[in-house]
Amino acid sequence: MSTETTTNAQLFERAQRVIPGGVNSPVRAFKAVGGTPRFIARAEGPYMFDAEGKRYIDYIGSWGPMILGHGHPGVLEAVQKAALDGFSFGAPTEREIELAEEILKLVPSMDQVRLVSSGTEAAMSAIRLARGATGRNKIIKFEGCYHGHADALLVKAGSGLATFGNPTSAGVPAEVVQHTLVLEYNNVALLEEAFELHGHDLACVMIEPIAGNMNFVRASVPFMDMLRKLCTHYGALLVFDEVMTGFRVGLAGAQGHYAQLIPGFAPDMSVFGKVIGGGMPLAAFGGKRAVMEKLAPLGPVYQAGTLSGNPVATACGLATLKEIQKPGFFDRLSGGTRQLVEGLTAAARDAGVPFVGDSQGGMFGFFFAGELPQNYATVMSTDKERFNRFFHGMLDGGVYLAPALYEAGFVSAAHSTQDIADTIAVARKALA
Ligand code: PMP
Repeated sequence: MSTETTTNAQLFERAQRVIPGGVNSPVRAFKAVGGTPRFIARAEGPYMFDAEGKRYIDYIGSWGPMILGHGHPGVLEAVQKAALDGFSFGAPTEREIELAEEILKLVPSMDQVRLVSSGTEAAMSAIRLARGATGRNKIIKFEGCYHGHADALLVKAGSGLATFGNPTSAGVPAEVVQHTLVLEYNNVALLEEAFELHGHDLACVMIEPIAGNMNFVRASVPFMDMLRKLCTHYGALLVFDEVMTGFRVGLAGAQGHYAQLIPGFAPDMSVFGKVIGGGMPLAAFGGKRAVMEKLAPLGPVYQAGTLSGNPVATACGLATLKEIQKPGFFDRLSGGTRQLVEGLTAAARDAGVPFVGDSQGGMFGFFFAGELPQNYATVMSTDKERFNRFFHGMLDGGVYLAPALYEAGFVSAAHSTQDIADTIAVARKALA
C-alpha cells in the first residue's frame, strides 16, 4: 500500500478491469450524467467521504435505506451485538419474529410477512404468490415503475392493450413477459380499458404508489381509487411496491398516506425493502393470511432463501424501525425535506430557471420543468442537460445527488438545518 491518495479515477480504471463497468449496480457508473463515479471510503451521519477524502452531503442514503443517516449509534450497537452471536444460522431465530411483529404492527393491511434479502426477490416472490393464489397468469405494471430485475418485470409496453410487453433487457425471452401488461401511470381511462379486456385473467397489479424510479411522481387519488375498485371488482390483487416508500414517506408507508385520502383504502399485498434493513440486505413481502398461507411450506407456492431473515440484517432493521417510531420523527424528517425542496425551488426562481419539486416524508424529487410530471413520458421530457449540469455543479460543491434525473432523493434524520442550508447555498451557485 502506498501512502499517496488513490484517486477516484484510478479506482474506476482498476474497477473496470475486474467488474463489468466498474460497478456492481449500473446507476453507480454515472453513465447518465457522465464523469467519474466517486468511490466511497466511509460515511458518517449525513456525510459520505470519497477515496480522495472529499466530503459530500449525501442525498442518496444508499438509495433509501439510511433514513437515520450513516452509523447511527443505536443501530451500530445492535449490529455489533448481533454479529458477535453469529452471522447466519439457516435456522429460525426469535429476532425474525420480532421484526415480523414490528412490521405488521405498523402496516395493518398485512397479517403475515416473509423476509427475504432484496427488493428484487420480494417483488418477484410477491408476483409468484399472487399468481399461485389466484390461479391467473397476467399481471399489470406501469411505465416508469421499477420493481427490481426479475425477468417478468423487465418489460416495456407493447403496441397496444391487446399485445403484452416487450423485454427491456437482453436475455429475457419474449415468452417470459408475454403475461405482463404495461400501462401508463396515472391514466384512468387506459386502466379501465385494460381491466375490461383482461380483468378476469389478472393475478395482480403491481405499482409504486409514489413512484421513485421516475424521479418522484405521485399516483393521483382518482387513479388510485379506480385501481383499488377495479382490482376488487375483478378479483385481482393490488400489490403495493413500497420498497422505497415503506417507512420512508411515513410510518405507515404510502398505503398509510392513501388511506388518509381514500376512506378504507388498503392494498392486498405489499413489498418492502431498503429502510426495513437499515442498510443491510433485507426485504419482505406480505399480505392477508389466506394469501400468505399459499407459500411453502404450508402451500404450493415455492419460495426460499439461504440468508433470508439473516440475524445481523434483522438486528439492523429492528433497531432502525425502533428509531423511526420515536415521537416527532417523521414530522422532523418531513420538515427538513420540505425545507430542502422549498429552498431549491426559491434558488431556481431567483436564477430564473424553471424548476418544480415535491416531497413526502423523507423522499423528494425535483425537475427542470414548469410543472410536476404525471407519468414516465413527461418525466423524460424534462430538461436532462440542465439536470446533468446541475448534478455536477452540486457534486463539485460537495452535495451528492442521485446521478440520473429519473431517481428520487432521500433526506435522513441526520441532516441538520445547517446541512440543508449549506446544500441550498451550493445550489444557488450551481444554478447561477
Ligand atoms: N422496488 C422498488 C420500488 C425499488 O426502488 C427497488 C430498488 N431501487 C426495487 C424494487 C429492487 O430492490 P433491490 O435493489 O433491493 O433488489
